Amino acid sequence: MTETILVSACLLGLLTRYDGTEKRNPRVLDFISDRGLVPIPICPEQLAGLPTPRPPVRFSRADGTGILDGTGSLIDEDGNEFAQTFLKGAMESVKIARLTGCRKALLKERSPSCGVSRIYRGEALTAGQGVTCALLRRNGLQVFSEEDL
Ligand code: SF4
Repeated sequence: MTETILVSACLLGLLTRYDGTEKRNPRVLDFISDRGLVPIPICPEQLAGLPTPRPPVRFSRADGTGILDGTGSLIDEDGNEFAQTFLKGAMESVKIARLTGCRKALLKERSPSCGVSRIYRGEALTAGQGVTCALLRRNGLQVFSEEDL
């Protein structure tokens, strides 16, 4: 049976990033094609209903796990809170994983939604995971990033 895998849409070359650009990654494309995987592109921030382009958002407290537990905070440059919006994008991503039978996800490192091992808290790059990564893991998916390939 063909195996599906959730993939951050920007890594596949889709113009989903906050600034309207993409982050096409040849190692990601090779990984998918070498294994005959079927990529299921997701952009949790677009799934949350946010526009593209959109203001950059960073953690001001905790990380994705903290957002799931109600202790985290995600704000834009004007201090607007985005925790609930990012949670919505994470929940939609889990729905897509279920609909398409994905047990694995290959996500973009350092993003507040997709980050796997590192995220920005304020200006500092620090250990942590994005909101969607955290929720996918809580739902039993194996998650790794383009930097793990
Ligand atoms: Fe890429 Fe994820 Fe950011 Fe969407 S939310 S642009 S998929 S890193």
